[in-house]
Amino acid sequence: MFDLIVIGAGSGGVRLARMSAQRGARVAVVESRYLGGTCVNVGCVPKKLFVYGAHVRDELEDAAGYGWKVPGEQVAFDWPTLVANKNAEIERLNGIYRRMLESAGVTIIEGSARLTDAQTVMVGDRRYQARHITVATGSWPVVPDIPGKECILTSNEMFYLPQLPRQAVVWGGGYIAVEFAGILAGLGVETTLIYRGELFLRGFDDDVRRFTAEELAKKGIHLRFGVTLDSVQAEGGHYNLALSDGSRLTTGLVMAATGRRALTEGLGLEALGVELEASGHIRVDEHFQTKVPNITALGDVIGTPQLTPVALAQAMVLSQRLFGDGGGEMDYQHIPTAVFCQPNIGTVGLTEAEAKAAGHQVVIYRSEFKPMKYTLSGRQERCLMKLVVDKTTDQVLGAHMVGPDAGEILQGLAVAIKAGATKAEFDSTIGIHPTSAEEFVTMREPVADH
Ligand code: NDP
Repeated sequence: MFDLIVIGAGSGGVRLARMSAQRGARVAVVESRYLGGTCVNVGCVPKKLFVYGAHVRDELEDAAGYGWKVPGEQVAFDWPTLVANKNAEIERLNGIYRRMLESAGVTIIEGSARLTDAQTVMVGDRRYQARHITVATGSWPVVPDIPGKECILTSNEMFYLPQLPRQAVVWGGGYIAVEFAGILAGLGVETTLIYRGELFLRGFDDDVRRFTAEELAKKGIHLRFGVTLDSVQAEGGHYNLALSDGSRLTTGLVMAATGRRALTEGLGLEALGVELEASGHIRVDEHFQTKVPNITALGDVIGTPQLTPVALAQAMVLSQRLFGDGGGEMDYQHIPTAVFCQPNIGTVGLTEAEAKAAGHQVVIYRSEFKPMKYTLSGRQERCLMKLVVDKTTDQVLGAHMVGPDAGEILQGLAVAIKAGATKAEFDSTIGIHPTSAEEFVTMREPVADH
């Protein structure tokens, strides 16, 4: 009898298993694919490695302005090398995850789990029992049901493509679509992004959305907004696409990044009384408790933001609740996040529209400029920074950036904003010179006040 069986060895599951074992619990984790889950294998980590790879192109282009001679005809990119090196790094991380679990005393069970009662997990024909069971099975890409769907790749397959096409179409307008459009374009693929709405990145600040669209277009990405994909047909070595506005496209690859659904099939949850939301996520209360007393769930499989650091934080809270002193609550406010397109987006707190909708009277500070690095290289890329401030309390409600290293820069600002910093405190903070980040503490003139 285990104290805890965790189903799924992704970011949240591994953290929960490890922390609980370190608290003295007897823990097993069941995993049917790979240790580390989406983040390590087909998400955050390999994506960021590809982003670095794509960014080398910009560095090479910028080199000449700094006196470096990079003979164009000798510069070549080899996709299989990038994939092989990425695979080696992922294998190294898989090994680290295994060692971390083993050294914490966690039993790793390989296979697919099925719950037969609230304390019993079957893996193949083996039966395991536990006082607590946590479902941390994550999410999986969804591709809308259109004719030719079987020709469409998702991010899962993109990480293992044998070769890069000359042209690609990315379908969707969220994190993954924007990031992969940037990777493909950076690696020299002629890329088109198709999004059904008027402007992609719904939910981000409107200035950020507009600015990012301008910058991605400058990078040569064809942005097709207000259309969607109706069908795909394979013909020879390429794909013919029919779009909702009646137009057609021919391309070498179609990738859908149209959202991710919770992975719950085959677990036998509903038969035990675990309820699902209409979206397919497992319904839990604020303590990750499902409708069945000893079954909990966390991470992408519940309806909270699908972000690794959120799953990690949830795991810490749940482990403490199950095997620690019981305290701890998740705080879903002020979750900073980045989209690793080029340039990056970094954001924390409320957008201008959200602040107004929440009843704040806001003062907006905004700055757009050419990063210093691009003065000599002549690159036309620009940077956007924006602060949303409450007029009455002077509290900074949100910070938003599009520009190099936005993800790195916003992490520090997230601490300040979570701590309730005011605009006056931003202003009295000494800048680090010369950086782009110092602009966040030197924006003095509001651009809007309403
Ligand atoms: P998102 O939910 O972010 O975006 C899905 C996109 O697909 C939206 O633009 C949506 O449009 C569109 N879409 C959904 N259904 C359809 C449809 N039937 N037809 C056409 N378009 C459709 O999902 P992603 O797959 O990009 O990413 C999943 C999650 O993973 C993210 O939300 C994020 O939490 C996480 N993630 C985080 C990253 C990071 O931190 N850097 C990187 C990658 C992923 P609409 O807006 O109109 O609904």
